[in-house]
Amino acid sequence: MATCEVCGNDYDKAFSVTTADGEDHTFDAFECAIHALAPVCAHCGCKIIGHGVEAEDSIFCCAHCAEKQGVSGVADRA
Ligand SMILES: [Zn+2]
Ligand SMILES: [Zn+2]
Repeated sequence: MATCEVCGNDYDKAFSVTTADGEDHTFDAFECAIHALAPVCAHCGCKIIGHGVEAEDSIFCCAHCAEKQGVSGVADRA
C-alpha cells in the first residue's frame, strides 16, 4: 500500500515516478501524477502530457503555441 502525494488516497495499485532529477513521487492515478509533475505550456497554460515542444528554454504543448510565443521554425509534423 502506498499513499498518493497529491490526493492522499491509500491505494494498493499506487505507483511511483522518478523524475529526471532523481526525485521519487508516489501516486494512485496518472491524473494525480500529471497534476504534480507535468510541465505547463508557456503559452496556453495547459498540462503537457505528450512530448511537447521545447524551444528557447520554454516548453509548449504544440508548435502552434510556440509560434504564438514568437518561436519560429517548429512544427508538429517534421
Ligand atoms: Zn491521487
Ligand atoms: Zn499550449
